[in-house]
Amino acid sequence: MGLGLTSRRAFGPEKRRQRERVIRSRRFPVVPAAVGAVLVVGLLALAPKSVAQRGGGRIAVATENKSASQLAIAQMQKGGTAVDAMVTAALSGGVASPTSSGVGGGGFGLVWIAAERRAYLLDFRETAPKGIDVAAFENRPFSKDQLGRLSGVPGEVRGLYQLHKLLGKRKWNEVVEPAARLAKTGFPVVRHLGNMLKGYGKRLKQDPGVAGVYYPNGRPAAVGNLVKNPALARTLEKIAASGPAAFYEGDVASDIVESARKNGGALTLADLKDYRPAERKPLHVRWEGYDVYTMPPPSAGGLMLVQTLKLYKKAELAQHGIDSGAYQHLVAEALRAAIADRMRYLGDPDKEKVDVAKLVSDERMALRKKRIALDRTHGIPRFGLEGAGTHHLVTADALGNVVTLTTTVNRLFGAKYTTEKSGIVMNDELDDFTTKSSVAPFGMKESPNRPRPGARPVSSMTPTIVVKNGRVVLALGGSGGTAIATNTTQMVLSNLVFGNSPKQALAKRRFYIPTRQAYIMLEQGAPKSLVRDLESRGEIVGFFPFKTTAMQMVAIDERGHKLAASDPRKHGSAIMR
Ligand code: GLU
Repeated sequence: MGLGLTSRRAFGPEKRRQRERVIRSRRFPVVPAAVGAVLVVGLLALAPKSVAQRGGGRIAVATENKSASQLAIAQMQKGGTAVDAMVTAALSGGVASPTSSGVGGGGFGLVWIAAERRAYLLDFRETAPKGIDVAAFENRPFSKDQLGRLSGVPGEVRGLYQLHKLLGKRKWNEVVEPAARLAKTGFPVVRHLGNMLKGYGKRLKQDPGVAGVYYPNGRPAAVGNLVKNPALARTLEKIAASGPAAFYEGDVASDIVESARKNGGALTLADLKDYRPAERKPLHVRWEGYDVYTMPPPSAGGLMLVQTLKLYKKAELAQHGIDSGAYQHLVAEALRAAIADRMRYLGDPDKEKVDVAKLVSDERMALRKKRIALDRTHGIPRFGLEGAGTHHLVTADALGNVVTLTTTVNRLFGAKYTTEKSGIVMNDELDDFTTKSSVAPFGMKESPNRPRPGARPVSSMTPTIVVKNGRVVLALGGSGGTAIATNTTQMVLSNLVFGNSPKQALAKRRFYIPTRQAYIMLEQGAPKSLVRDLESRGEIVGFFPFKTTAMQMVAIDERGHKLAASDPRKHGSAIMR
């Protein structure tokens, strides 16, 4: 996603909001001591300990879309596994939150197989077509009628199918049909979609497919309105009946190819037919008694998380407190160093040798640690001198199986064109390839993440599972481009170091380290004292609207009780039963 330019000061509207916040807080009535005491006693009585009482459950789902969460829970209530629930959730999310993901995109799915106490990882990210015009990628952005150039071969359908084969208990058609029905009978417009339809109407309406479904009579469908997508419903019905072949071959495949080519793209029928997901070994680190499993290349997200964990011990971070400038600066420096590694070393592991073990090795991290200090800040290229739609979903079943999956069409409504007959919003994932000019500050002529036929562009998506004694204790991930990895790292630390529940962790303000600027970007409302503290350490402070970055988290206690939470920033939906 395009992460906007930033300034050292709060934006205009933010300034106004800050002023308003002060005025409102002055209006708070003073609570008399006796009433206060009663309130405290009452609140204590309202603070029960058991997870079930706190609204936890044996099964849990957290997604960005209420319809998707409800249909996924229903799958598990009918005896389905976390994988059955995830297939339904991801496909339904694609129907009802098409801003973020869908069968025209791809993603990564990390599964904890409880019976085998093993993590399984599937990469179903889009690949570049064989006929990609590599040279043209240096001259991005492409014009509106050329966005098909950014469309990679969608991996979603084959990916979900393979996950279902791994651990699905219900029949394939049974897990796909609810999504088809949702498209056919209609789904309520959620807040994020409603806001985007309203805010970006001029641009989005240019695509007849999007206009026909979401702009009845030329006006954006409003939050809560029921919307039907009959073309997509038919596509999903075919996929339910015939599996991936209904997508990668035949009418739907032809429609995808023709639509991409009309938009300047190079996709062919052979590209679609040949697409295969890739099983990958999860990136694993043992940290403070936990086993953390996360996403290896072609994502940079897991590397950023693992390097951060390896640089610091729990106590070292805990001593500062989560809201302190010292803690945030230490994590920011770790993330900057990891971003430098991303730019220098990461590419598609099937096209480029990526030595992850070396990148996270103890020796290397020890050397790096020596360069990090509480009283100074590095520019990103100064590290490593030794040598930006999206939907995250989590499902957890009563047997201990957990799926944490990030799926995306990249930007808002992907490449912003829909396939003509099959109603598919196509991705613009290939925009994640890196230009030469981006790696020039690192003294490099070419990026390991350069566009190449068949290559997967480097991602930030970071599906992560934390395991203790062979049991998942935390599963999470998020959306929001390069903020995904910085958010995931912070949420892991918030839970493991500071003991925050998913809901508490998501309620806290967080920060962001952009890949190309020297800032630490705070969330609106951060106190002035924090800004001053960070500046005293050499940090350059900016502000960042976190509205399109959202995390989903599920924590599980030793009895198997689950606490799920969805990020309020994108109005997600967590359900526990
Ligand atoms: N394409 C991005 C990635 O794979 C995700 C899209 C976004 O969230 O902006 O990292």
